[in-house]
Amino acid sequence: MKVLVINCGSSSLKYQLIDSDTEAVLAKGLCERIGIDGRLVYQKAGCDKEITDAPMPTHKEGIQLVLDALTNEKTGAIKELSEVEAIGHRVVHGGEEFASSAVITDEMIAAVEACNELAPLHNPANLIGIRVCADLMPGVPQVGVFDTAFHQTMPKKAFLYGLPIEYYKNYKVRRYGFHGTSHSFVSKRAVEFLGLDKENSKVIVCHLGNGSSISAVVNGKCVDTTMGLTPLEGVVMGTRSGNIDPAIMEYVAKKEGLDLAGITNVLNKKSGLQGLSGVSSDMRDLEAAAAAGNEDAKNAVEVLCYSIAKFVGGYVAAMNGVDAIVFTAGIGENDGFVRETVCSYLGYLGIEIDKDANGKRGEEVVISTPDSKVKAVVIPTNEELAICRDTVALVK
Ligand code: AMP
Repeated sequence: MKVLVINCGSSSLKYQLIDSDTEAVLAKGLCERIGIDGRLVYQKAGCDKEITDAPMPTHKEGIQLVLDALTNEKTGAIKELSEVEAIGHRVVHGGEEFASSAVITDEMIAAVEACNELAPLHNPANLIGIRVCADLMPGVPQVGVFDTAFHQTMPKKAFLYGLPIEYYKNYKVRRYGFHGTSHSFVSKRAVEFLGLDKENSKVIVCHLGNGSSISAVVNGKCVDTTMGLTPLEGVVMGTRSGNIDPAIMEYVAKKEGLDLAGITNVLNKKSGLQGLSGVSSDMRDLEAAAAAGNEDAKNAVEVLCYSIAKFVGGYVAAMNGVDAIVFTAGIGENDGFVRETVCSYLGYLGIEIDKDANGKRGEEVVISTPDSKVKAVVIPTNEELAICRDTVALVK
């Protein structure tokens, strides 16, 4: 079955056409600058990227251009649009409504709309993608795959904040967690790859990218995660602060003459590695600056590794043990220094890093020594494939 996977943002969308039988990516790319001017990036498997500037006043023109590219006589990946048998959409927030992926129906859309307030930047964009696809490909079944769904198994003790309980009861203020599609995919794959017993496994997944989150997974079910009501909570990220003392907000607001929205903007866009280093939000730039003697960049990398190690230690306590620590996403898959530094805090667990294995990049690899009691492993994430698999499972 050929599945079109769509990840729709407010001014961009990423897509992949996947053959679910072979799990091969037939074509992929993105639409950028939707509503501004418009640029289509299209790449058929085995071919070079094609970049076309084309007007995209709305997502509709963008998705139409993607469909035209996919069926282009010369460079298309398919002959006819009817070959696309299902569409899988990333949906950021499913609130408490969705503990798993769901076929898109009018009722389902209404339930997602009810979660819009919890993800005002993302959910409306995801819904636009769903509606445009329904318009352009009527009759093709669509599935929504939620970033929050995997974390819905968290117990109350993990998802409730120490706030007046009315905030949860009346406003749904609780920890939801994000990157769930990645945490689910990577934790399952780690259990398979390491030959662990599925029904008796304790895994900690460190999804470390521009946005980062960590999850604790017992027997395939999430029991805790670092992101909260929004993706701002948890470890230090590219531009997000992660955990801070909430009283800092009022203190700095007064000093800087900012309102609440201004402070929240600083916490989301000007903090984290970017804010700490004053250099960049990108680990590669930071490590280069640190190597050149920039103290702030060096401190930023240290703060990141230390904050990851503290969450990992907390989750070992929460699960009363751990079988494997898994690294994934841009930093987790590529940055051996971060992995080694994080694991250097975890010697008490019996983790020792195999330097040769840790030098590898972007592949599934055990990076702990054979006699390490707890395994450290790299598992590349693949959210598009996870969306494709869920879509097929629901429409077949
Ligand atoms: P993601 O959000 O998963 O795409 O991850 C993006 C982040 O991964 C970037 O901001 C980089 O900091 C990091 N990254 C990507 N490649 C490397 C690399 N080779 N070494 C260190 N960090 C990397």
